[in-house]
Amino acid sequence: MRIGIDLGGTKIELIALDDAGREVLRQRVPTPQGDYPATVGAVVSLIEKAEKDLKANATVGIGMPGALSRATGLVKNANSTCLIGKDLKGDLQKALGREVRITNDANCFALSEAVDGAGKGAEVVFGVILGTGVGAGIVVRGEVLVGLNAIAGEWGHNPLPLPRKEDLPLPDCYCGRKGCIETYLSGPAFKRDGENLDNYEERLARALAGVINILDPDVVVLGGGISNIPRLYANVPVLWRPYVFSDQVATRVAPPVHGDSSGVRGAAWLWGR
Ligand SMILES: [Zn+2]
Repeated sequence: MRIGIDLGGTKIELIALDDAGREVLRQRVPTPQGDYPATVGAVVSLIEKAEKDLKANATVGIGMPGALSRATGLVKNANSTCLIGKDLKGDLQKALGREVRITNDANCFALSEAVDGAGKGAEVVFGVILGTGVGAGIVVRGEVLVGLNAIAGEWGHNPLPLPRKEDLPLPDCYCGRKGCIETYLSGPAFKRDGENLDNYEERLARALAGVINILDPDVVVLGGGISNIPRLYANVPVLWRPYVFSDQVATRVAPPVHGDSSGVRGAAWLWGR
């Protein structure tokens, strides 16, 4: 059995998948606010309760909005700031008495869609979250690509390519840079722009063309609230043509199969198929 945990800023969700990948249990609790020991405690008790209810031991994978530093093993880049600098993996392993796998929630999204979602069977999947923030995960032949600095897929903080008149002045990003893709493509940015879909699609196309030129994925799966807008899937692959360095572009843009469940499912799939 596989347990996946989505450790979010407002809720902690657990899913249990049986050996065939079927969902057998799902539970959620609110995330203790600003309290690291209570957060670890809440994750541990969710897992222990699930194993008791199911009378089985499980592998444990965890997705969270941040990454484990390759240098220190400690949490970095987390928007739940009480996790930053903490040995989340070590503390959970100690409490649970087993190895735990942890990765970024966008990586979990991409993995879930790659295993049995919109990217099933694809060699390279680029899974994008267009939500409060903009992030992405890369899955190659069924494995999450974490990267040497644990930032593979952190495309939201690249500058938007070829800014046009309507993209100026370059907006300030919380990361300290200007003109980050996230400052144009996040949900709040879309609202600030009067929800102008023409602008949005053109920017998304330019931003994804840069990804295609480097990664050349089979499929780009969109997630997050903005992925619910149907016309993106027809328009973006037309709009990115002038920016992709290829005579033909076979890359698909697809909506997620598992929607909001992809994060927690992908966490469970951190323990292989
Ligand atoms: Zn930024």
